[in-house]
Amino acid sequence: MILTSKAAVITGSTSGIGLAIARALAKEGANIVLNGLGDEAEIEKTRAGIESEFGVKAVYSPANMLKADEIEEMVRLGERSFGSVDILVNNAGIQFVSPVEDFPVEKWDQIIAINLTSAFHAIRAAVPGMKARKWGRIINTASAHSLVASPFKSAYVAAKHGIAGLTKTVALEVATHGITVNCISPGYVWTPLVERQIPDTMKARGLTKEQVINDVLLEAQPTKQFVTVDQVAGLAVFLCSDAASQMSGANLSMDGGWTAK
Ligand code: NAD
Repeated sequence: MILTSKAAVITGSTSGIGLAIARALAKEGANIVLNGLGDEAEIEKTRAGIESEFGVKAVYSPANMLKADEIEEMVRLGERSFGSVDILVNNAGIQFVSPVEDFPVEKWDQIIAINLTSAFHAIRAAVPGMKARKWGRIINTASAHSLVASPFKSAYVAAKHGIAGLTKTVALEVATHGITVNCISPGYVWTPLVERQIPDTMKARGLTKEQVINDVLLEAQPTKQFVTVDQVAGLAVFLCSDAASQMSGANLSMDGGWTAK
């Protein structure tokens, strides 16, 4: 247990990668602020399950990542509940697939707000406390799309390249304060986010579901396998460990070799 007495805020942790990271940090003893959308009863079940399974405290913040004031309140909830926010994982994200000339303006705005700007608001709120305690870990879930592009994902690729830049900038600013800032860049991970984009990709490219999975998604990954949420969570735990205290400003790929091409 390497995170006893630490507290972590994980945005978008009601599902997929964020939930796996929350559970992995809780397993190491961290108290947890869960966040994300979803069915109230389901979320309560998840929250209570983390407490009973790992013997930590977990609270839920309903903050909408589109709203700056709610994001700040999420960090304050962590500080009020646990006395500190030591670990911040900016993970909430959405996807939309469309040719650029048809890309709905409101979808562009939402993707930039949720996948990029929300991390700025959360970092802004969390850094003063981390500086005061001289310890902090900020982990941003970027993507292989922070390094390379795919057609029809203009907003997502722009936001993910943006979060890679934000990661490097903040890493430099807080480097002497015991705070590290890194991003994890997974390739395709089998989560609801990936499942949901299959119909749109079928439409945009005129393909069947099997063709999208094998010829578009796994085509990008030399290993021909999806990354698992637990593998991403394992890297997040490592970034919180003492062994990673000199790693900062890094963009860590976990993409089955995709971006080596
Ligand atoms: P997911 O859909 O399973 O989870 C997304 C989470 O974000 C959910 O908890 C959802 O409720 C939350 N969320 C969405 N909009 C929100 C809002 N307005 N306010 C608060 N929470 C909100 O997706 P996932 O695949 O686990 O994705 C998590 C992160 O990983 C995203 O940033 C995504 O871009 C990134 N990522 C995913 C993959 C992949 O293949 N699945 C690959 C690379 C990067």
